[in-house]
Amino acid sequence: MGRRHVGKGDAKEIARERIERLFELARQEASADKQPNAQRYVSLALKIGQRHKVRTGHKRTYCPECYSYFIPPKNVRVRTSRGKIAMTCLACGNVLRIPMKSIKG
Ligand SMILES: [Zn+2]
Repeated sequence: MGRRHVGKGDAKEIARERIERLFELARQEASADKQPNAQRYVSLALKIGQRHKVRTGHKRTYCPECYSYFIPPKNVRVRTSRGKIAMTCLACGNVLRIPMKSIKG
């Protein structure tokens, strides 16, 4: 991911960079107990991702229901059972179930 010449892919590249920055900001806000700001950044990042058809690559770091940025164990409860991970958003109660094999390393 270095600098490349100007081409068609640039809009996506820029979108991706913005998304990364927004998730970083969301993380900072969430760790500073400013969840409303974090939610705004997350929803903004997701909007950019949709508009540019770019995958945000940040699944499981936020709640897809209320956009809270997860800071375990502050606002998310993580449980593992029988090869699955259940993440419960403590803000809205939404539960994400993730098969363990889909998680790397
Ligand atoms: Zn939630």
